Parts: sequence; structure tokens; C-alpha cells
Amino acid sequence: MKNFAVVARPDENSARLKKVITERLTAAGYTENEAEPETCFVVGGDGTFIYAVHKYLDHLDKVRFYGIHTGTLGFFTDYRDCEMDEFLEAFLSGKVRETAYKLFEVHTGKGHEYYALNEMRVENITRTQVIDVFVDGEHFETFRGTGFCVATQLGSTAYNRSLHGAVMQEGLNLIEMTEIGGIHHSKFRSLGVPIVMRDDITLQFRSDDFSGALLGIDSDVFALEGADELTVRISPKKSVRMLKGREVSYFARLQTLF
Ligand code: NAP
Ligand code: MN
Repeated sequence: MKNFAVVARPDENSARLKKVITERLTAAGYTENEAEPETCFVVGGDGTFIYAVHKYLDHLDKVRFYGIHTGTLGFFTDYRDCEMDEFLEAFLSGKVRETAYKLFEVHTGKGHEYYALNEMRVENITRTQVIDVFVDGEHFETFRGTGFCVATQLGSTAYNRSLHGAVMQEGLNLIEMTEIGGIHHSKFRSLGVPIVMRDDITLQFRSDDFSGALLGIDSDVFALEGADELTVRISPKKSVRMLKGREVSYFARLQTLF
């Protein structure tokens, strides 16, 4: 476990901390290896953590992520930048614990496969999007509006929260589907409130016309032109291995959001 990489947010303070981590680890006998790290140190915010996970998406079985936040406490990080010594000490003395977090696997039916840590979204701001929602192959509702956000427990505090979805406490391995701009009146009806589901279900979003719609995967968006179906489930293949040097209360993290 001697190869490491550091992914830092592009700001001065994060760059300085990246240098500190690199120097301290090199002095302790570790080797910087950006292509094949066994540990990826992440310096920045939750957004930076997501970026780092996507950077190593093809190596997730081989790399663990260990984050330090250059702001408040994050959902993916247990240390703030003023706690660099404790952060490195926990790692170097082997006092870190590994936890795996599941990813969503999204298929467009056109051979494309995407992975999301926070959420997947299907959104169309150009016109009313009609979507048929299927749960485990069973038709559940016909939705009209802007789209849907499907969040993991980790992602429940991100975009899902802006949509008034429920925050899900750490440890709840559930998935949450929230409408985005649903139209509800005498002719059109759909559930209208967020729904929390078991993590072994498969969701499908089908439409005759996804033109103008976007598929959002964490920080990225992709055009859905030509697709007629999206399949979402917890990936049986990929998960993210995170290192934790100490326990931080979930409610202390939540307090940093408001
Ligand atoms: P970003 O600037 O990296 O992130 C937007 C904000 O969301 C940042 O303040 C980030 O925190 C925070 N965030 C990310 N993941 C979080 C989580 N799991 N729990 C709580 N806060 C979280 O934007 P981006 O790179 O385009 O997108 C990354 C994520 O941001 C997306 O997955 C989406 O959930 C979220 N986002 C939310 C909205 C919204 O609420 N309207 C809009 C766009 C994106 P840090 O400051 O710690 O990085
Ligand atoms: Mn960001």
C-alpha cells in the first residue's frame, strides 16, 4: 500500500496542502503514482471527492480514498485543513478504517454505462418531459414535468436536498427518487412526493422522446438524444472504498449545511 496520489481542488490553499501531504508521505517511504495509486488523498470539498472518484472509476477495486476538507466538514471527509497532522498521523499509523459505498449503475440501452456516487438525474428544461416510471419491471406512474433525481444515501444531502427530498442518515442503504418540477392537476397526476426505496430495486425511465433531455451523473451531464430508456440500479460491480481516521457524528456534518 505504498503508492499514492493526491487530488486537490484548484485553489492556493488546497495546492499548499497537497504539497504537505506529498512531502510527508514521500519522507515516510511512500511513492507518488498518479496512474495507479493504492490510496488517493483528496484535498478540497465534497465536489472534489466526487471528481477524484470519477477520475479513478476504472480502478475502484484497487484504490482507497482519504479526504481532508478545505472548508467546513464534508460528507466525504472527516478532517478539516487545520487538522492535517491528525489526518496524516491516523493514516501513517494504520488507524484508518475502510468503508465501502455503493454506486448507481445507469444504462441508456445504447451500450453506455455510467456510475454515480451522489445521484443520477434525468432533466428536460426545454419542454414538458413525459416519463413512464417502472419499478422492477412494473409500471408505477406516468410523469410529466422536468424530470427526476435518484439519490444514494450519500447524495441525499446534495441535489436531492435542494429538491426537498429527505436527508437519509448514514448507515441507511436506501435509494430515493424525487420529482423535479412535476406537473400535477386534474389531468396529470404522479406521486408528487419523494419516495425512499430498498436498494435492491431496478428503476426504469422510459419515454418516446427524450430530445432536449439531459442525463446528470454527479457533476457531469450527457445528452439523451436517441435514447428511449434509462435503467438505474445499485451496481453489483463497483463501489467506492473510503478511509476514515475517526468517527464524526452525522448530525455534526448535517449542521454544516444550514
Ligand atoms: P459542486 O460545486 O462540486 O457542488 C455543489 C455543492 O454541492 C457544493 O457546495 C458541494 O460541497 C455540495 N455537495 C456535493 N456533494 C454533496 C453531498 N453528497 N452532500 C452535501 N453536499 C454536497 O458542483 P458540481 O461539481 O457541479 O456537482 C457535484 C454535486 O453537486 C452533484 O452531484 C449535485 O448533487 C450537487 N449539485 C447540487 C445542485 C443543487 O443543489 N441545486 C446543483 C448542482 C450540483 P463542497 O463545497 O464541499 O464541494
Ligand atoms: Mn466542485
